[in-house]
Amino acid sequence: MAKEDRFKKIIAHCKEYGFVFPSSDIYDGLGAVYDYGQNGVELKNNIKEYWWKSMVLLHENIVGLDSAIFMHPTVWKASGHVDAFSDPLIDNKDSKKRYRADVLIEEHREKILGKINKEVAKAAKRFGDDFNKAEFVSTNGRVLKYQGQIDEITRRFVEALENGDLEAVRQLIVDEKIACPVSGSRNWTEVRQFNLMFDTKLGSVAEGAHTIYLRPETAQGIFVNYLNVQKTGRMKIPFGIAQIGKAFRNEIVARQFLFRMREFEQMEMQFFVRPGEDAKWFDYWKKMRINWHNALGFNQDDYRFHEHEKLAHYANAAVDIEYNFPIGFKEVEGIHSRTDFDLKKHQEFSGKKLQFFDNEMNESYTPYVIETSIGLDRTFLLLLSAAYCEEDLGNDKGKNDKRIVLRIPAPLAPVKLAILPLLKKDGLPEIAKEIMSELRFEFNCQYEEKDTIGRRYRRQDAIGTPYCITIDHQTREDNTVTLRHRDTMEQERISIDKLKTIISEKVNISNLLKKLTQ
Ligand code: ATP
Repeated sequence: MAKEDRFKKIIAHCKEYGFVFPSSDIYDGLGAVYDYGQNGVELKNNIKEYWWKSMVLLHENIVGLDSAIFMHPTVWKASGHVDAFSDPLIDNKDSKKRYRADVLIEEHREKILGKINKEVAKAAKRFGDDFNKAEFVSTNGRVLKYQGQIDEITRRFVEALENGDLEAVRQLIVDEKIACPVSGSRNWTEVRQFNLMFDTKLGSVAEGAHTIYLRPETAQGIFVNYLNVQKTGRMKIPFGIAQIGKAFRNEIVARQFLFRMREFEQMEMQFFVRPGEDAKWFDYWKKMRINWHNALGFNQDDYRFHEHEKLAHYANAAVDIEYNFPIGFKEVEGIHSRTDFDLKKHQEFSGKKLQFFDNEMNESYTPYVIETSIGLDRTFLLLLSAAYCEEDLGNDKGKNDKRIVLRIPAPLAPVKLAILPLLKKDGLPEIAKEIMSELRFEFNCQYEEKDTIGRRYRRQDAIGTPYCITIDHQTREDNTVTLRHRDTMEQERISIDKLKTIISEKVNISNLLKKLTQ
């Protein structure tokens, strides 16, 4: 299946099966804002639980926090977000479409690179085994011309950004004859910096009201609580603070479903370490985080690390974990070594000392910070992308010879067990409800009695339910049910009193957590 089709199908599936709806759907939605439906919210909660427990339960020196979305406006001045959290924007006057100027230039460079690759491929075909690529690209006239063009664009672009010269960015777009992909015209407005933070007013009357921001990341809530947590929790370095919460960014190009949203959720952990030990802990967290992903059991080739070439102003090392989404390899998580930048800045702006007295070293210092920051919604999309399967069963000529199955790891599945009486009579629903009333305390169960058993199985496959049990006439005689496994579709006869143990063992989140400590 083409990747684009797959992406569209996943989006449609999310809506059809109660995972994700466009926000304000009856009013035709709101750009890049989404609501999670009855199954989506369960899956999301399970992802949160897996992350939270992997941090707070498995590390004695990591504690949690839930800080407010609204924060003192100076927080964002100190962190650099007021001045620097922005994208350069340009509009096409004919199509009225808005673009990120840096993305237009980046795509233009990619196009030229594509021409080089074409020349190389042509030559490789012509020369066969004798082809020497290094020699070809360093001598071929056409390739050298294209490469020169790319280098010149890069030079001008970097210079313009370093000087904050937006007119020079625009001139580059004009000189390179970059056209709007929609209208095809080169009728551009000037370039403006566009801050990604949403602002609002605090206070009941307009005058005297203060402009405050909806937080664009949860991390700052952790930094400003560093001292509160360290002191009240009597925490010793190294220690971490973990938080899950909403973040808001006024993204300009927001057309990729859950991948780029304006309101989203982050799971962030700031780990405070001794200066000089940051490199060691950066490596530690890089390993821990990829293990967390790998424990989900998906294809490991679909993950890769992407080292940042250009570091943010606060970082001395940064790596992204990228996943092979149907829209290509893209960032799902960032691991950043943030030095003492944030704590020092907050110290400077607040006038409060944000330090740690290290007994062993007998000195005070501002801790360094390693951050792990993962998008909850992007993880949700990752799970859907990895789990979505269309299977041709080929065993039935009728309607049910195909199935869509979500191979979500059992501990994260929205519903763990579907309880299905074969018929709506002969006392079978009563037995089913009795089973339900006992097992509902252990894990999420769903009772269903409508439609044929085949249809009910398909519906459960489509939401990723790992187990179904069917109650039939034999149940009345020997207290056994049919247990059906989602992935293999195998069925086995099981005694009712064994259900709790068998299923609990498989759907417990500790199955995933144990893999992290091996
Ligand atoms: P990108 O380069 O894709 O815009 P970023 O580098 O700005 O992402 P960070 O600031 O490092 O992202 O945020 C940490 C994590 O938060 C990201 O790895 C991602 O999973 C998530 N995230 C960031 N922006 C969004 C968004 N608009 N929608 C959904 N998730 C997001």
